[in-house]
Amino acid sequence: MTRCPVCMVQLNDTIARLSDHFYALQLKNDADHIMWLNRYIGKQRFGQDELELKFEKFFRTASLKKGLFPTL
Ligand SMILES: [Zn+2]
Repeated sequence: MTRCPVCMVQLNDTIARLSDHFYALQLKNDADHIMWLNRYIGKQRFGQDELELKFEKFFRTASLKKGLFPTL
């Protein structure tokens, strides 16, 4: 089970699901999720597929940093 690092909602255990969650909240202009994206993924807005690729890349790197995202 994956948790969103921002709102802690439980999601399906795929990065794609997490990416879709962030994409949806970005469209709703959710400040907390957008801040997280700005900080960890990038300041520009990405399309849904592009964002998913960015997430995969990010979490492949992040999983090497122990304790940053223990639920992933
Ligand atoms: Zn969230």
